[in-house]
Amino acid sequence: MLSKNKEMIKRVRYLFSGVVQGVGFRPFIYRLAVKNSLRGFVQNRPDGVLAEVEGSEAAIDSFLASVRRELPPLADVTNISSEEIPREPDDNFRIIASDTCGDGDVHISPDIAICQDCLKELFDPQDRRYQYPFINCTNCGPRLTIIKSIPYDRINTSMACFPLCAQCQTEYENPANRRFHAEPNACPVCGPKIQLLDEVGKTLRTDDPIKTAIGLLKEGKVLAIKGLGGFHLSVDAGNDEAVKRLRSRKYREEKPMAIMVMNLENVKCLADVNEEEEKLLTSPQRPIVLLKKKNSSTISEQVAPGVPNLGVMLPYTPPHYLLLEKDFAALVMTSANQVDEPICISNREAIIRLKGIADYFLIHNRDILVRCDDSIAMIAAGKEQLLRRSRGFVPKPILLKDSFPDVLALGAHLKATQCIVKGNFAFLSPHIGDLETPQARDFFQESLTLMKKITESNPDVIACDAHPAYYSTKVAEEMTGVRVIRIQHHHAHIVSCMAENQIDGDVIGLAMDGTGFGLDGHAWGCEFLIANETEFKRLGHLQYFVLPGGEKAIHEPWRIAASLLALAYGQSWSEIAAQLGIIPAGMDSKVLDKIIANKINSPLTSGLGRLFDGVAAIIGVRKTVSFEGQAAMELEGESDHEAAEPFPFAITPNADNCLILDISSTIRAIVNDLLAGKSKKEISSSFHRTLAVAFVAMCEQIREKTGINRVCLSGGCFQNKILLEGSIKQLESAGFAVFHHKQVPTNDGGIALGQAVIAGAIAKK
Ligand code: ZN
Ligand code: ZN
Ligand code: FE
Repeated sequence: MLSKNKEMIKRVRYLFSGVVQGVGFRPFIYRLAVKNSLRGFVQNRPDGVLAEVEGSEAAIDSFLASVRRELPPLADVTNISSEEIPREPDDNFRIIASDTCGDGDVHISPDIAICQDCLKELFDPQDRRYQYPFINCTNCGPRLTIIKSIPYDRINTSMACFPLCAQCQTEYENPANRRFHAEPNACPVCGPKIQLLDEVGKTLRTDDPIKTAIGLLKEGKVLAIKGLGGFHLSVDAGNDEAVKRLRSRKYREEKPMAIMVMNLENVKCLADVNEEEEKLLTSPQRPIVLLKKKNSSTISEQVAPGVPNLGVMLPYTPPHYLLLEKDFAALVMTSANQVDEPICISNREAIIRLKGIADYFLIHNRDILVRCDDSIAMIAAGKEQLLRRSRGFVPKPILLKDSFPDVLALGAHLKATQCIVKGNFAFLSPHIGDLETPQARDFFQESLTLMKKITESNPDVIACDAHPAYYSTKVAEEMTGVRVIRIQHHHAHIVSCMAENQIDGDVIGLAMDGTGFGLDGHAWGCEFLIANETEFKRLGHLQYFVLPGGEKAIHEPWRIAASLLALAYGQSWSEIAAQLGIIPAGMDSKVLDKIIANKINSPLTSGLGRLFDGVAAIIGVRKTVSFEGQAAMELEGESDHEAAEPFPFAITPNADNCLILDISSTIRAIVNDLLAGKSKKEISSSFHRTLAVAFVAMCEQIREKTGINRVCLSGGCFQNKILLEGSIKQLESAGFAVFHHKQVPTNDGGIALGQAVIAGAIAKK
């Protein structure tokens, strides 16, 4: 009976949704259908890939099992719906033209590094695409960054202006070919071309622009190189003078710059690489991976001065491979922009905006339509953690536990990103950056348009930060006909962590960052909350201290050191400060004393990032900084993982029964150790350990009060690996279930996700 049923002929319609377009999904379906002798068709639709298959039930079962088992590497199927439908008189299986009606539920694929098959062709002198810089296939190449509109068909990309030659057209139409419907398919005959321009944009006559570019890099020149999601500025990382020149032209004194290295073996000469890091480096997303720098390195110290880590990526486009093939230990590959401006994408824009920085431009005529910086990741607590989620990852959605009404979240102010929630998917935008300049704000608007287009959504619930002065907040306020929901910064951090870990309900949230607008008007940043998707309560925080001179204190951590010493020693702080040489010459400590005591232009903060700055200044790691987080990074660099003795601290409830983490005894202990001649390393290690121990003590008191045992860690301070790993370890051994970020940045780049989920949950209510 059963076997007879299995032979019965029927027709089933499947709809596959998720990342199913631009990833070779239709030829994949075609091959499996033909293999199982099924008739019917497959087609791209705005809401996914539709397949109708007709044949015996057994054949259809076997077809579906293979689909599930053998998915193409880049496909990510989030749902398969099916229904049995009346039979049709097909006599074969076909791939038919895209259907443009239906509700949008297709996910655009992120850009993907060149695959092994294409790489082989790139270096094969017999291949017709030998050394062709735009080689790609259904498994690799540009995606999001060439999209004009959806569905993802060549006509809707920046490849539309390159008609396929006969040979490419044949590949494109042949379901058995690995370039079947590879939308960016191209060859030297029909595809885009590379050009080399001088500093004013005049074309250089050369038969081989890449070879000439290599020569110029060798000479120490600064090249602007057009990549996948924008331009890089590049110099030979082994050339000290060249690196210095790039730094001074870019007004980037000390902030670390990323490097690109040909292969893993070469990376291992420059940095320590463990197995997980190796996987991350070679993944098709090819992020910049933060690795522990080796001393015996052959690259300029100027690439990442003072900090313990090196940001390294492997090549991900054909030109990268051609540039790096021989000769270079590493190339500096830093985003091509001026300070606080977004990455350049068009040839014209690059020539104008990089004037005075780049000596030459290695450009091409395939337009980049979406700005997408390199992503940055590290391995922490044995897991991948993204610190900047952009190229290679965007616009792949984060899967949420629940569905929500459509929401647009506008993020924070620094490391800005946006997020659109649609159903149970959260789509985060590419990294936009700090919203300080008109150019960054234009990019913010550009990104807004993009996000609405690719999600086919125009939400009327808008989430933004509670900070009244943020640009993103102002954008929300200027929108009409929408409901604006303002969300406290640290609440958003915690819910962001909950969302990506797919948990809901009450948690203890540890939000640790530099600064965020607090509900009492002070700058919060070391917060112990109980939170869920709609509400939070502040149950504890680091004791407030003054930031002498406000904004100035962020660039001059010695000011924070003075403030912390005043907290720890009262009146006599200035003697200690003098003894430790903290106050720079020309600054009168009596004036500073007045500023601190009377809080003149000096806001109160509980920011952990600021505490790091202050401690770094006290122990002499760094008294002034040239970029945010520099002091903390270097303090982390001084520390090691060895279990150091923690310093004392105290926890006392204030009048509102909020637990105050009192660090005056910590500061005194640090000073005592310093005066006793202990090393920076010992003190920094103890300081890190103190924080982890204090976090546990605070959480234990909160657990006692509330019975909550789950802890979510979020905020920029958890980019500090020693702090993150130490906190997880201590909390877990105290019996807490600990959650932290992996796919979504723990810094303000992840805020938009938390905002979107909170607003969605509120709107749902
Ligand atoms: Zn390929
Ligand atoms: Zn061609
Ligand atoms: Fe933050």
